[in-house]
Amino acid sequence: MKRIVLFALALLLLPLFGCGTETPHSATGYACDTVVTITAYAPQETVDAALSICSDYEKVLSKTIEGSDVWRLNHANGEPVPVDPETAALLSFAVEIGSLSDGAFDVTIAPASALWDFRADDPVLPDPDALRAACERVDYRNIVIDGNTVTLLNGAEIDLGGVAKGYIADRVSAYFQAKGVASACINMGGNVVTIGTKPNGDPWTVGIRDSKGAPDESEEVLSIADGAVVTSGTYERGFTLDGVRYHHILDPKTGMPVSNGLASVTVVGVRSDLCDALSTACFVLGEEASKPLLDRYGVRAVFLYEDGSRGAYPES
Ligand code: ADP
Ligand code: MG
Repeated sequence: MKRIVLFALALLLLPLFGCGTETPHSATGYACDTVVTITAYAPQETVDAALSICSDYEKVLSKTIEGSDVWRLNHANGEPVPVDPETAALLSFAVEIGSLSDGAFDVTIAPASALWDFRADDPVLPDPDALRAACERVDYRNIVIDGNTVTLLNGAEIDLGGVAKGYIADRVSAYFQAKGVASACINMGGNVVTIGTKPNGDPWTVGIRDSKGAPDESEEVLSIADGAVVTSGTYERGFTLDGVRYHHILDPKTGMPVSNGLASVTVVGVRSDLCDALSTACFVLGEEASKPLLDRYGVRAVFLYEDGSRGAYPES
């Protein structure tokens, strides 16, 4: 009996002491079309479990994995579809950012984004008529959410590429926190979330790549404790054809890559789903028009331009 009581007490106290380790452990994998690297002062099995959370969420939020919530929505011919409560909440959030960005961020971009293949060996431009027709189906107001049932109106289709990685990085962070891990850094292809500082008190650091996106060239290095840093950049995914750079952040009105002189937008805040959605939204809006949105959510952004110039809001 005494042993059972002691065991129960140990279990109760465990979260107070956490499951930290003195040396960091890392795991690297591939999820949501990007490299995921997780480092934490936690046992290797905890870090491995965190990595597997990414592929678990990918199975729900991917538009290409058959049977995912998004796949079922996109293949429902406008019929109501019951989805996971987390999917419904994420879609509500995406609609909120859609509305506050006046449609600059729009997760119904799928019909347009599907016409681009940024990974092709011999990339081609989409047919302009097809792109125009696709854009007629792009409008976040076509997402109707009623509890956990979602209906897509007017031929809308969902692509969560602009927010899913940020959302998942937050979920991994929540998992670590529930395990009592006090120090970790999660990087999902440019969506970085940190917990605490390193045990010696040094902050986790995140480099913003220069406007050319060179992997080893950091324009500036940010120190982040308990926060998120998300960058949307033209260099992430795209191709150059006849001297023109085509990249994966699209103007929902035209379905064409946004061409406003920006090379990247980095958003720094607490929640990485928010920073992810806003980095895409602010890229489309441009620096001036982004300010009210950044104010509203109390987050910071760094704007890097193709000509090497830089803006920050609030200024720093
Ligand atoms: P990354 O995938 O590099 O993190 P972003 O977060 O900026 O980059 O998201 C770009 C992805 O979001 C695209 O690959 C596409 O799936 C989707 N997308 C493109 N344009 C928009 C847009 N205007 N609004 C919402 N999602 C978009
Ligand atoms: Mg984004």
